[in-house]
Amino acid sequence: MDPFSKTLWHATAEPPPETEPLVGDVKADVAIVGGGFTGLSAALHLAEQGVAVRVIEAREIGACASGRNAGLVVPNFAKADPSVVEAKLGAEAGGRLLDLVGGAGEVVFGLIKRLGIDCDAEQTGWIQPAHGPDATGAMERRCQEWAARGRPVALLDREALARLTGCDKFFGGWIDHSGGQLNPLGYARGLAKAAMDAGARIHTGSRLGRMERGGGVWVLNSENGTVRADQVLLCTNAAVGRLWPRLRRSFFPLVVHQLATAPISAALARRILPGRQAVSDTSTSLFSYRLDRDNRLISGGMAALPWGADKRMSRTIAARLDRMLDLGGVPPVEHIWIGTAAATPDFLPRLHMLGPGLHAGLGCNGRGIAMTTVLGRVLAQAALQGHGRGLDVPLSEVVPIPAHILVQHAPRVAVPLARWREARR
Ligand SMILES: Cc1cc2nc3c(=O)[nH]c(=O)nc-3n(C[C@H](O)[C@H](O)[C@H](O)COP(=O)(O)OP(=O)(O)OC[C@H]3O[C@@H](n4cnc5c(N)ncnc54)[C@H](O)[C@@H]3O)c2cc1C
Repeated sequence: MDPFSKTLWHATAEPPPETEPLVGDVKADVAIVGGGFTGLSAALHLAEQGVAVRVIEAREIGACASGRNAGLVVPNFAKADPSVVEAKLGAEAGGRLLDLVGGAGEVVFGLIKRLGIDCDAEQTGWIQPAHGPDATGAMERRCQEWAARGRPVALLDREALARLTGCDKFFGGWIDHSGGQLNPLGYARGLAKAAMDAGARIHTGSRLGRMERGGGVWVLNSENGTVRADQVLLCTNAAVGRLWPRLRRSFFPLVVHQLATAPISAALARRILPGRQAVSDTSTSLFSYRLDRDNRLISGGMAALPWGADKRMSRTIAARLDRMLDLGGVPPVEHIWIGTAAATPDFLPRLHMLGPGLHAGLGCNGRGIAMTTVLGRVLAQAALQGHGRGLDVPLSEVVPIPAHILVQHAPRVAVPLARWREARR
């Protein structure tokens, strides 16, 4: 499948603001590489402080993960609980990261309200059900740990879950009321428009092939233009390509299929998700689903092998929706697309200083809508102060994953294998 094919979101998002490619030799205080949530949030926060900022995007706004995800706003870490984060980073640094990410749902919905972004945002909450009886204890601990940090969370018993999720196959779980859902491409385009209104310049269709330091500044070259900037923020996430090879080897690229069914009836939508929450369970082959504004069901999955994956995944994902939600038949699929997420080995986001005035932020592990919005704000702070020390996301070294050329494919095998095992239970 074309990794840049049109998605459901292209059909339902507000149009993007008008942008032009980078042409000629220009200067900026801060150059941002990448027009996804991370780069756009950084651009917005810098432009609002009067900083001359240029965003350079190879394709279009939200071309990669930001415009191709499922739109669940999830203000926590995939698999890393508060006690794990504190054990790894210490109480002070861990606590700052936890507060940042735990509050990120409120930041997203707050920004959308303040900036008037039209992206079908619904702060209805995010539910995580336990997919098996073994996972309920971990859910209770997770919920208690976030509650102890003052987050608006609650445990859900089997009955409450069945009522809220339309599925009687879960074993207990929890809800974070500050999460929810939105149209991700609409959110990215809205952030871009707000950043431009605040004075940021955004250049699309401008792939940077080279970055070098000369005359005390960074020189970034695209085919038809050059930006010279004191500070650079690399916000390329999984799409970093050859621009910074060491960075590319520091995460697992996860290729995920995402689909949207045809709209279901209002009565069925009310039966499945009466409170319109976004749901993602604890299984390794993650079962997530939500409704879009027209009551399409949106769900996803990962394929073991790329050959013939689109047809296979379309059938598998739609059949799982039918099986788990008792739809009474496999729903017709209206849109299917793929995207690539960046997963770090410990599920925590990264802030790197790659050189003088050069920072990178990445690795939001499928929690990117909430996390990248606050990561972009942290990157903006790093550019303002000229270094990334003392911020809410701790600075770390880039650590390439050993044997990355082979190991990067591990999730492609592990996740479908888990799906097969779980289906046989
Ligand atoms: C299928 C899928 C489903 C997901 N579902 C969810 C979800 O439901 N909820 C959630 O919170 N998160 C989800 N995520 C994760 C989330 O989408 C990402 O964490 C987030 O979008 C990353 O944003 P970003 O701005 O860092 O990177 P991206 O959106 O990937 O943006 C990087 C940009 O950099 C540009 N770029 C790269 N190289 C260059 C270059 N050399 N020159 C110029 N530009 C360049 C690219 O074109 C791209 O636009 C999902 C991800 C995927 C793939």
